[in-house]
Amino acid sequence: MEAMLLDAPGRPLRLADLPRPEPGPGQILVKVRACGVCRTDLHVVDGELSEPKLPIVPGHEIVGVVEQTGRGVERLEPGGRVGIPWLGHTCGRCRFCAAGRENLCDLAMFTGYGIDGGYADYTVADARYSFPIHGSYGDAEAAPLLCAGLIGYRSLRMAGDAERLGIYGFGAAAHLVAQVAQYQGRRVFAFSRAGDLQAQDFARDLGAVWAGSSEEKPPEELDAAIIFAPVGPLIPTALRAVSKGGVVVAGGIHMSDIPSFPYAILWGERVVRSVANLTREDAVEFLALAPKVPVRTEIETFPLEAANEALDRLRSGRLRGAAVLIPT
Ligand SMILES: [Zn+2]
Ligand SMILES: [Zn+2]
Repeated sequence: MEAMLLDAPGRPLRLADLPRPEPGPGQILVKVRACGVCRTDLHVVDGELSEPKLPIVPGHEIVGVVEQTGRGVERLEPGGRVGIPWLGHTCGRCRFCAAGRENLCDLAMFTGYGIDGGYADYTVADARYSFPIHGSYGDAEAAPLLCAGLIGYRSLRMAGDAERLGIYGFGAAAHLVAQVAQYQGRRVFAFSRAGDLQAQDFARDLGAVWAGSSEEKPPEELDAAIIFAPVGPLIPTALRAVSKGGVVVAGGIHMSDIPSFPYAILWGERVVRSVANLTREDAVEFLALAPKVPVRTEIETFPLEAANEALDRLRSGRLRGAAVLIPT
């Protein structure tokens, strides 16, 4: 099978001819139909996440069809369509798993990081961490739901019942979260890089009540803010925009350093928190909610072999919505 392989961080992916993987006990072999390109893939490729299995096939927004099931797989059958997200394995025994917080599992394994992912014709996955995809979505349209959607949804949950919601960084995750937030009756205030009028128009098209640059103050105080841009200085910026008791949620897995800031902007029971990974419960909940909203995904497709170009476009912010790779 063909795969785009990362030999070492800092190098472009290489088109490789690999043996088709075999599903072990509890696993499924999946023919990949589409795989989204997530910012986390960039962090892996650029070496900002330091412990990938190498070489690694990146990609953790996988949509495909079950080709074969390993021993003991009952819930999924060949021919069924599944989505495979970032969370690929948990131990089930550590204190986090025992407390229903498997996203924090000490021994968690992640798709496209510790387990080969979806930048390939085929992949194998643990059936327990694979989820049916609603029939109203095309393969490529569904791909961004698997990470941008899931992590975005978890970030939104961490924002509590905030009615006035700020979103910093209006890319793949934000465009999905904005739709869910409005479905839930919240008002969305969108912040982009200064001068990125295209992102601001995009946000308004999706129903944001206000869109501007992250250097601007919103027209009213916010109840919560979610930061998807990997930019540490946005933490104090967002703290200044939220009201007393407000929450600032960092939705990314990696962020540049946060500058020091005066205690006064945290005072008033404001909270800063991160969101790590996802649980299977998040996946079940969000994948059931998405077709009801219905969450529409804005995508740009690339052939699998053009993975490096898709990553470059994401790195430089030249994408509207999400990039999705299609094996040929
Ligand atoms: Zn665990
Ligand atoms: Zn991701």
